[in-house]
Amino acid sequence: MKQSRIGLQTRFLAAILIMFVVVVLVMLQLWNRQQATQHDVSEVTRAAMHELIYEQVRIDGEAEVRQLADALANPLYYFDLDAIGALARAALRESDVEYVLVYDPAGRILHDGSGDIAAYGQPMGDPLAAEVVAANGPHTRASGQVLDISSPIMIGDQRLGGVRIGYSLVGVARAEDQSMAGLRNRIDEVGRRNLAWLLLLCAALGVIGLAAVALVHRILVQPIRILGDAAREIEAGNFSLPVPDSDREDELGDLIRSFGRMRESVARHDRDIRRVAYSDALTGLSNRLAFREALDTRLRALQGAGRQLALLFADIDDFKRINDTLGHEAGDEVLLQVAGIIDRVVKVIPGVDAMVARFGGDEFVTLLQASDNEPEGEVRTLATRLADSLVHELGQPLLLHGRQVFLGCSIGVALFPDDADTASGLMKNGDIAMYQAKVAGKNCHRFYSRTMDQAVERRMRMEHDLRGAWGRGELSLAYQPIYRTRDRVLVGAEALLRWNHPEDGAIAPAVFIDVAEQSGLIESIGPEVMRAACHEATQWRPAPGAGEAPFVAVNVSPRQLRSGDLVQQITAALHETSLPPARLHVELTETAVISDEINASALLARLRQTGVRVWLDDFGTGYSSLSHLRRVQVDGLKIDRSFITDLLRDPDDLALTSAIIAMAHSMGITVVAEGVEKQGQYDLLRERDCDLVQGFWLGHPCTPAEFAKLLD
Ligand code: C2E
Ligand code: MG
Ligand code: MG
Repeated sequence: MKQSRIGLQTRFLAAILIMFVVVVLVMLQLWNRQQATQHDVSEVTRAAMHELIYEQVRIDGEAEVRQLADALANPLYYFDLDAIGALARAALRESDVEYVLVYDPAGRILHDGSGDIAAYGQPMGDPLAAEVVAANGPHTRASGQVLDISSPIMIGDQRLGGVRIGYSLVGVARAEDQSMAGLRNRIDEVGRRNLAWLLLLCAALGVIGLAAVALVHRILVQPIRILGDAAREIEAGNFSLPVPDSDREDELGDLIRSFGRMRESVARHDRDIRRVAYSDALTGLSNRLAFREALDTRLRALQGAGRQLALLFADIDDFKRINDTLGHEAGDEVLLQVAGIIDRVVKVIPGVDAMVARFGGDEFVTLLQASDNEPEGEVRTLATRLADSLVHELGQPLLLHGRQVFLGCSIGVALFPDDADTASGLMKNGDIAMYQAKVAGKNCHRFYSRTMDQAVERRMRMEHDLRGAWGRGELSLAYQPIYRTRDRVLVGAEALLRWNHPEDGAIAPAVFIDVAEQSGLIESIGPEVMRAACHEATQWRPAPGAGEAPFVAVNVSPRQLRSGDLVQQITAALHETSLPPARLHVELTETAVISDEINASALLARLRQTGVRVWLDDFGTGYSSLSHLRRVQVDGLKIDRSFITDLLRDPDDLALTSAIIAMAHSMGITVVAEGVEKQGQYDLLRERDCDLVQGFWLGHPCTPAEFAKLLD
């Protein structure tokens, strides 16, 4: 395309032109040959004619001269000048006779046909004279325009003289010219006719050439061009042009038809690919790609138009729990139902022009715009209405295989152009707002605000800083003593992670553990904690009155639990440090265990087989805990601090705590009370037979050295 190219038509035209030129050249050559031939023919003809006429004149002339010579014999013998003159004059009168000369043997003129014979007796002075006189017989010679014929006049053997007649050849030449002119006319006529034929032939050839070009254009070039155009359109992804069709029964017809079929098939494949590429296979909603393209298109259309739109990011709360506890098929079913609900809710909100997409996982995004007939400035209201409806509808229980499942959703809303004016900006801010809705307690919606950015930024910076923090020695473990309630003997310690940030100082575990958990960093930090805690515990001697060395309790996050190699990690740490398994207690949060009950109980069983003790941390904060205890085999549970805090004031908490203790004991489970800050709490717990206690009143988390001192 870039360089100028020579099309089929041009090539063909050029070929025809070259052929034409060659033909014309050949014809010119023929014409030339014919001219030459014509010329040759006329020359030969002229020569032949000349010869013929000349010969005739000569023969006639010679006969006449001989006759005259015979007739003159007697008069000359008798020298009868009058008779000679009469004869000479008669001869001279002949039409084409120029001169008549009668002469004596010496060549002197005796008579010339004139009256006075002025030249009488004079020798013939012309150049031929000598030759004529010398000749023994008749003599013929042409000289200029005259044919000179002479004959001696004899009587017996005696030569009396001679006679010469000059015949004019002018008449002969004229006659010759006339017939030549006639002949040439005829030949020219033939030549002209031939030329006309040649020209006609050329014209016919030209017409045939042009017709051939036109034909080639029609049957070859034009269809190929149409195919070429169609191919370019297909290349550009445009399949809407009419399919070139043809009923021609030739190769090109076949090509056109198969091209048409090929385009149909390419278009079909394109549609299929688009469908696959642009829609979510599970729900049939648009996918991220399709959504992104639609958003880009809309934003381009809206740029500068003063119109608004909203992006709603909805994320199902605790969807993972469904997947983990009920399986992925149930998860898919939930997603399908949720997609249906969102689609339905979006349709019933009046004045809304919306597009719903699933971004994979449990993230549904809705692009919201006021319909064309709706007053502007309504988008925020519409978004609020939609978000409220969604939160409400998705807060209703779903029916899953006959079971009611409670979900909920957190929605983040970002507005164009207020919050961002680019697609990626809007999606990022919508995501941030959604995250804030989660942080705010889930099952609610949040509009994006600039302050959210800072929160997210802080979090991202923290994640960045946390990476490699263990290696840099910024992370360490503190040990909080755990006492036997009965006699307040130190029996163990909980290892608690501490982060001393190089700039920000100590950061609360509640903050950074969450970041480590969300980002997955906990999967690398967790094993380090495990190893360090086990190693530390090997240094501990039994406290006075304890009898055996204290255990170490290590917190394990839900993510570590799910990672699959927890058992292997723990056995590795025990093996490396040679800590007896019974001295390692693993604290799992109650929610982590409950949300993945089936997997968890198998895992806990394997954990316990290694000899490690398993405790449920933060007991009481999660779901219907007590019933689960029957199915999930644990060694101990730690009653959450929130129950202990109000133990002295709230009779309900006391009742609950007492019930937990009694129930646990009935199942042979050890009970630990966390967050004991007052002696009253401790006394009450001892009275209720709580096995172990931990709290600031008994001891703050401390350094390994401080803890070792406590043991003395
Ligand atoms: P947790 O396992 O429930 O740990 C007990 C928390 O209660 C500790 O907070 C401890 O300092 C605090 N505490 C103990 N006694 C009292 C008291 O009398 N009053 C009050 N107000 N608080 C008390 P900390 O160290 O901030 O840890 C918070 C949470 O961080 C832990 O809760 C645990 O879930 C998590 N965590 C700490 N270290 C690790 C770790 O190494 N790995 C994992 N996965 N999580 C950890
Ligand atoms: Mg704990
Ligand atoms: Mg706890």
